[in-house]
Amino acid sequence: MSLQIPFDNSFARLPAAFFSRQAPEPVRAPRLVAFNDDLARVMGISPGEAEEIARVFAGNAVPEGADPLAQLYAGHQFGHYNPQLGDGRAILLGEVVGTDGQRRDIQLKGSGRTPYSRAGDGRAWLGPVLREYVVSEAMHALGIPTTRALAAVETGETVLRERALPGAVLTRVAASHLRVGTFQVFAARGDLGSLKRLTDYAIERHYPGVEGPMGLLTAVRDAQVRLIASWMAVGFIHGVMNTDNCAISGETIDYGPCAFMDAYHPSTVYSSIDQFGRYAYSAQPDIAVWNLAQLATALIQQYEDKEAAVEEATAIVHATPAMLEAEWLARFRAKLGLTTAREGDGALIARLLQRMAEGQADFTNTFRALGSAGARDHFIDASAYDTWEADWRDRVEDEPDPTALIAATNPAFIPRNHRVEQMIAAAVAGDYAPFHRLNAVLARPFDDQPEAHDLRRPPTEQEVVQATFCGT
Ligand code: AMP
Ligand code: MG
Repeated sequence: MSLQIPFDNSFARLPAAFFSRQAPEPVRAPRLVAFNDDLARVMGISPGEAEEIARVFAGNAVPEGADPLAQLYAGHQFGHYNPQLGDGRAILLGEVVGTDGQRRDIQLKGSGRTPYSRAGDGRAWLGPVLREYVVSEAMHALGIPTTRALAAVETGETVLRERALPGAVLTRVAASHLRVGTFQVFAARGDLGSLKRLTDYAIERHYPGVEGPMGLLTAVRDAQVRLIASWMAVGFIHGVMNTDNCAISGETIDYGPCAFMDAYHPSTVYSSIDQFGRYAYSAQPDIAVWNLAQLATALIQQYEDKEAAVEEATAIVHATPAMLEAEWLARFRAKLGLTTAREGDGALIARLLQRMAEGQADFTNTFRALGSAGARDHFIDASAYDTWEADWRDRVEDEPDPTALIAATNPAFIPRNHRVEQMIAAAVAGDYAPFHRLNAVLARPFDDQPEAHDLRRPPTEQEVVQATFCGT
């Protein structure tokens, strides 16, 4: 049986101003690296043979029903507005509605040049493709809204970065690829017709029933609040929270120089291009508000009474910090094994984090171990933990089962940055075993998997990854 994808495209029917039709550029020798059978099944895709999967997800064969195009968008990058970005190395093949009723985009990333490529080559190398595959699937297993990975294919070509590297194509699946930057491009051009059309489309696709641009802004805000709080709860640092990387759906999108923290410190930055810590771990809530303000600025262009619209949008955006704080508190209460809310909980959490920062405690392992014998060993000065634990014991006295809640909310496994880098180095040398092992273990992050305990270990001094590059 051959590969069949039940396409049902909606974005391709929007006006021509939204995209450029563009076929993917074939590659020399496609070879399938990974195919996500579980995801394919939910999407109603019948996979067929590996060779055909490789051809289709390398862009060498356009499957029946696809309507390939590159999407237009703009965005603020590190605070500076870029009036035209767009898919410079990605092609939207189309959409499918899965057996779960969910509509999803299928996008090839690294599939050749498009009208939006500027100076870029339209390609991706194997490293960032495998990184996005592993980390996005790990995020999904952690229960965090995210784009997903359907396939990874080697191209048999080299791409030139700092050196010649093996090329690859990632197939990314998303609730949609609408971004804050998709709204910005039409607002900045004063194309109110397209802006209105986009607003209606986004509402129908993601938030049916909400009313008008302000209803959309409210819904996106709520989704971003949930998203950012869930990142904070697992120690995830996105790395490039530019407005073109902020999805309207509320999914995590664009895994570039992202990483999970090892030792806890609020000002942790991984990306080598983020010199001033704009997108540091603890800055993420503020940046989410900033991005929402950009969405608000774009959306209000649609109102005739600007003053009233500004007032309403300001109120919606200004509510975000308090909502984030509440959502953050709820998540961290659960991480401490608490099912009830009490006055001093925020201070109790803050004291733990303070001691973790001072004690260079591993974020993931410390939370997983709370209340158990090994917890104190994660701190340089174990007694700093002991005094905190005494307070925590007083607080959990009436809790039904803090240990079970801690195990259910604090993962044992995250895609540690040094393991991801080691996996990439192995793959470049032709060994895909670490890639497959990471995927298998990270699919069950809350299960103790004794045979994989090496993947729980923080990096040794030699293993610490010095810089995570933008990864293009
Ligand atoms: P990103 O940093 O991946 O969010 O990308 C920012 C912008 O640069 C987007 O418009 C991308 O399509 C574009 N881009 C990134 N890498 C490449 C590349 N190798 N070739 C063409 N465009 C690229
Ligand atoms: Mg991007």
